[in-house]
Amino acid sequence: MSTIDDLPSLRDVIETHGIAAKKSLGQNFLLDLNLTAKIARMAGDLSGADVLEIGPGPGGLTRGLLAEGARRVLAIEKDERCMSALAEIAAKYPGQLEVINGDALEINPLTHLTAPIKVAANLPYNVGTELLVRWLTPPQWPPFWESLTLMFQREVAQRIVAEPGTKAYGRLALLAQWRAEPRIVLDLPPEAFTPPPKVSSAVVHLTALPAPRFEADPAVLNRVVAAGFNQRRKMLRSALKVLGPDIEDHLLAAGIKPTERAEQVPLEAFCALARSIAAAR
Ligand code: SAM
Repeated sequence: MSTIDDLPSLRDVIETHGIAAKKSLGQNFLLDLNLTAKIARMAGDLSGADVLEIGPGPGGLTRGLLAEGARRVLAIEKDERCMSALAEIAAKYPGQLEVINGDALEINPLTHLTAPIKVAANLPYNVGTELLVRWLTPPQWPPFWESLTLMFQREVAQRIVAEPGTKAYGRLALLAQWRAEPRIVLDLPPEAFTPPPKVSSAVVHLTALPAPRFEADPAVLNRVVAAGFNQRRKMLRSALKVLGPDIEDHLLAAGIKPTERAEQVPLEAFCALARSIAAAR
């Protein structure tokens, strides 16, 4: 059967290079190259972009990104066993694939990349959430990336796109929607992976906004949202008491009823509250 390139099938790659999936590294591989090409296309037009891929594993998504025309791919993979398999892909695309063997949480990829930069990854979920929060809270905005195309546990994907008044709505939704435009672009059942994980997954595509959606000091907004959702069942006038004795005045100034709960408050009102608190300092 012909594939997106003429490299061996991913099953053969795993067999030849001895990359049996390790639970400790969150290894649930995508072996269908049509699917990895489809995910690569969800990252948008790659032809003029450098792509940062975290956790390439045996290289299914990497092959998709290169076949879809990425200018360059920088892939960071923790598992040393994957290096020889990834070297075979690099040989097929001379000068276009750079692989770093290391922990994505400890490596700064920026010296290896040229703008515009897109990020694509099928990562273990805990690492994915931690990196997402880092990518959404850089020292300055706009960030180094134009878009993020990331696989998450479906429940986490729903938290990223959640609307006020739902159970999934919380800090992750507010952070993601303040700085980016997040959308779920693909749902995947456990059987799409080898070995299958226990839960369903989803690909989330986030486009960076040129500036945060509403004005607010990031540190103040973060404090307000953290306090509100740390006690999400409490009314805001008591959940936010930690922020000062005049919190009720600020809530009213922001157009928020002090008896409301954080779960019901839209992003725009949280930003207005952060502005009112910052202005009173
Ligand atoms: N992208 C491949 C695919 O779709 O088949 C592999 C996906 S697998 C869910 C996650 C990959 O991330 C594994 O190859 C694992 O070794 C790698 N990984 C886990 N933790 C990592 C970390 N902290 N930094 C870089 N890679 C990591």
